Amino acid sequence: MKLFKYFILASILSVTSCKKNKDIIVDNNSSVGSSSEAFLSDEHYKKLDIQILYMPGYLPNQNSIENLKDFLFDHLNKPQGINITTKEIPSSTQSVYTLDNLKSIESNHRTFYNDENTLAASIIVVDGKYSSENVLGVAYKNTSMAIFGETINENAGGLNQPSKTKLESTILNHEFGHVLGLVNIGCPMVVDHEATNNSGHCNNENCLMYYAVETTDIASFLIGNDILTIDENCKKDLQGNGGK
Ligand SMILES: [Zn+2]
Ligand SMILES: [Zn+2]
Repeated sequence: MKLFKYFILASILSVTSCKKNKDIIVDNNSSVGSSSEAFLSDEHYKKLDIQILYMPGYLPNQNSIENLKDFLFDHLNKPQGINITTKEIPSSTQSVYTLDNLKSIESNHRTFYNDENTLAASIIVVDGKYSSENVLGVAYKNTSMAIFGETINENAGGLNQPSKTKLESTILNHEFGHVLGLVNIGCPMVVDHEATNNSGHCNNENCLMYYAVETTDIASFLIGNDILTIDENCKKDLQGNGGK
């Protein structure tokens, strides 16, 4: 009788723990923000591998890559490390890229996908603009982002413009913020702070997750400011969903 009881208890425990792991295992083809907890916590994935696929001439600055790494180190629990590698891909020789274009570029060139222990993310840097005007970057799947090299170059590095590293870092970190589930797109809000007219974004104009950060409007704001960081409300959300 006693043994029987232990057996039942053990079965219940194993069912619960399987269920928990199963919830956090993710594919690479889901909606933006839906893998928030998989990125933030170390519950299932201990390591993160990011692959930057860039078109000729559009390799991000090394400092921008380091800034992205620092941002992720600050908020993600990945005890076995966060690695970023870069890979050149051919130009698609077009000036404007649509969402469908980005998806097919990714499926043709991406070589890092999730495995048992490692979560993988992909960032494409294209040599053109987005089909929607003045957009610097986009997160389009749970582990997929793109930034628009030509639009970044046109808005950085010149007179009365921020440095390329500052603009590039801000947009890379912003898009990754969406992948982490900010704001309210997979990472539950601790305090209500989603912008009323710009869903998925923070209502604080000094926060990395403010909507204007995604567009060329941010360029002039960055001249006198540092690379934007997330505010207290966004930080609380990440911490509440397994992040730090
Ligand atoms: Zn955004
Ligand atoms: Zn915020």
